[in-house]
Amino acid sequence: MLVAHHILDKEGILMPYRWPADTEFTRIALAVEEQWCRTCGGALTICDHRHHRVFTLTGPLHLVCKLAHCPTRACPAHPQTLSPEAETAIAMPWWVLGWDVVCWLGQRRFARHWSVGQIRAELADTYQIRLSADAIETYIHRYQQMLAARRQAPDQLAAAYADVEAVMLAIDGLQPEKGHETLYVVRELERKRVWFAEPLLSSATTEVQQLLVQARVWAERLGKRVRLWMSDKQDAFVRGIAAEFPGVPHRYCANHFLRDVAKPVLEADSHAKVKMRRTVRGLRAIEREVLAAQYAPDAPPFPAVQAEESRGPQAQAAEGARDVVLDDCAAVRGILNDDHGGPLHPPGLRMAAALGEVQASLQRHLAAKKGGLLTTDARGWPETSPGG
Ligand SMILES: [Zn+2]
Repeated sequence: MLVAHHILDKEGILMPYRWPADTEFTRIALAVEEQWCRTCGGALTICDHRHHRVFTLTGPLHLVCKLAHCPTRACPAHPQTLSPEAETAIAMPWWVLGWDVVCWLGQRRFARHWSVGQIRAELADTYQIRLSADAIETYIHRYQQMLAARRQAPDQLAAAYADVEAVMLAIDGLQPEKGHETLYVVRELERKRVWFAEPLLSSATTEVQQLLVQARVWAERLGKRVRLWMSDKQDAFVRGIAAEFPGVPHRYCANHFLRDVAKPVLEADSHAKVKMRRTVRGLRAIEREVLAAQYAPDAPPFPAVQAEESRGPQAQAAEGARDVVLDDCAAVRGILNDDHGGPLHPPGLRMAAALGEVQASLQRHLAAKKGGLLTTDARGWPETSPGG
């Protein structure tokens, strides 16, 4: 009973539940199902009562469990105390929540993604079940253990793999927090199931080897061929898989591969970004200059109180040029501030491309100006918006 063992461990940190004095319980008496001693055949007698109070979705229950034993002192079964099995159909003996509440919790948490706070409020409001956040977390943990036990149940597993011809396995070490033991997870990729996970204190070959042996036993029990292994190819995995699964291909995990490749790429990319930002600067000074010229006494009138037709072509051209400069400055600022993108779309590469487009556009403007063609319609530079 691996599951019960873990729950008992967890139980040690939970305070016993304090029922309010006015709680109204429905009393249920439960008796041991057998009447006769399995060892000597004598009649069992009631030796004690266990009072177990639990919440159910339909109200609090007070279970009176009549414990029984074989009264014959000479019988080897005499020291054993028997509990009614009906009790465990309602709740586990040391639980304060019935199975229905535990299932409700698990469903809300994992299928509906409710927070502990939401669950706590709903339990109190709708079912008058008042629990601490700690207690709810403990029961969510128990629900997960039940789920894991069910997923590992051999008949469940056999059913899940009935129409799978061969399995693909992956092993990976996850470190939840720095300095903590690493959790090694063996997953099966064809059915996307976690087969099992073990915390190991070291990544030594012998420790990892035990997990690989376990994986081989699982595959054999299922009667399935292992088509492929995937990992980040750390030494212990490479050696262990070669020893335990001779001839089975061992591929580098694409995610790990990308992540490792990405590291130097992103470093170089961020370096390039810094360099570009250092080179392309002085936007504010340019903007200030343009805006100052706009308000200068000899500048064309602004704001445009005059009718369009009454303004000379000279004034219109000057205003157009000013807009081009301000728009270009805004675009360049947007480009320099754009930090989005990952290893497959490095932000620095996009920055360089966008700055190149702005530069080309400026060149076109300059060429047009030399030819005396600059009008407000000449702002034909390509889109360089951050999202582009
Ligand atoms: Zn007996």
